[in-house]
Amino acid sequence: MERELGRLAALIKASNRIVFFTGAGISTESGIPDFRSPGGLWEKNQPIEFSDFLASEEMRRESWRRKFAMDSVMSAAEPNAGHLAITELYRRGQVSKVVTQNIDGLQQLAGVDEKDVIELHGNTTFAKCLDCGDRMSLKQVKAVFAVNETLPECGRCGGIVKTATISFGQPMPVRELQEAEKEAVACDLMIVAGSSLVVYPAADIPLIAREAGAELVIINREPTPLDPVASLTIRGEIGKSLSAVTKP
Ligand code: NAD
Ligand code: ZN
Repeated sequence: MERELGRLAALIKASNRIVFFTGAGISTESGIPDFRSPGGLWEKNQPIEFSDFLASEEMRRESWRRKFAMDSVMSAAEPNAGHLAITELYRRGQVSKVVTQNIDGLQQLAGVDEKDVIELHGNTTFAKCLDCGDRMSLKQVKAVFAVNETLPECGRCGGIVKTATISFGQPMPVRELQEAEKEAVACDLMIVAGSSLVVYPAADIPLIAREAGAELVIINREPTPLDPVASLTIRGEIGKSLSAVTKP
């Protein structure tokens, strides 16, 4: 492990433009369970597909029930050593963007400017109308839902309101995806932290970086499909690994 961390420190030092690609694994140390680890979210509930959410009021109710059940975990979560190490490199001017599959907003809370976090799967800290995009706060939705599980409606156009996240089967946000691809091509080092790299098209981003000539580092507890093409893989905890190499 010492040797790998030394190599990571050298790659970071040699880089002028780092892009981080983060997944659910970077937030487990903040107490938010990931999808695929034992005890993760998928063992409890199959995710609700976008088409089912649209098709059935009962599915929409179930989706809000789950959301509010998870909400205490989400709103209590604080950035951890991994998020803070990324912020430290960002403040030193070495990180251009953080591309994330996460929806928890913790990297922004850790101090990376909102405009420099590219959220590929949206954000769960607020809700949005599916038709006109108007925002609604979770507090507002909660108040509506508290009365006999009434489904929220858009105050502007009457459309269906959903958390601002991208569900399975829901189209990816085009602008974010294009921006992430552009960043992947332009960076000289991409560091993946805590993603199983199996959810597409998000998982293409590190591959695009590699093919465009960037160094690729993967920090993950488990093997990923991109390990064979990586410059370096670190099979360890993210918080420990990143803070070990970013200490001043
Ligand atoms: P994933 O659950 O598929 O993979 C997470 C990976 O991180 C796993 O391979 C696991 O071994 C590893 N990991 C977990 N904790 C770690 C740690 N402390 N150190 C090192 N490795 C660790 O997650 P994914 O690839 O991001 O895909 C799941 C999808 O679920 C995402 O697209 C995201 O939208 C959503 N999701 C988001 C959150 C969040 O916002 N925090 C949480 C759960 C799921
Ligand atoms: Zn609307």
